[in-house]
Amino acid sequence: MSRDEPGPTTSLVCPRCSRLHDPDERFCRDCGMPLTFEGPRELEPRDDAHERARKVDPRFARGELVRVAGGRNQAECELVQNILLEHGVPSVLRRTRGFDVPDFIAAGPRDVLVPESGYQLARELLSEADLLTSEGPPGSLPGIGSPARLALGIAIAFAIGLALVWILYQVAT
Ligand SMILES: [Zn+2]
Repeated sequence: MSRDEPGPTTSLVCPRCSRLHDPDERFCRDCGMPLTFEGPRELEPRDDAHERARKVDPRFARGELVRVAGGRNQAECELVQNILLEHGVPSVLRRTRGFDVPDFIAAGPRDVLVPESGYQLARELLSEADLLTSEGPPGSLPGIGSPARLALGIAIAFAIGLALVWILYQVAT
């Protein structure tokens, strides 16, 4: 019967869906948000998980999860998450749609999602840190998407085809 079990005041709560968690949990089992302490607490953090929990600002933990950035792999996204967390914005990683490989593989692109209330700040922080480069403004996709470039591509392909036919005709006769 040891008495070093933490009391109920150290229980963690999800800043987004208010679900309570045990003190040894780090993320919400429902929505994946980093957990915060229940109620205001100004104690020194005891370990990494508590340090993380202390940093989350509940003001930035409200609303639906929205995509704020993407990364080519787990490490890149964790860098983004750390920057956001330094400013109190909790975030969640999701595998980018269309790249579903087994979860234990750290490779593959991911999306970083933040609660709606933290989105604006997250965008500002990441653009300051120059970490929104993988986004690209809409309409700037190379090749397909621009009708003029598409037409040019078709014209070039057609010209090459004609030249090929002409060469084959010359060889055959
Ligand atoms: Zn939650």
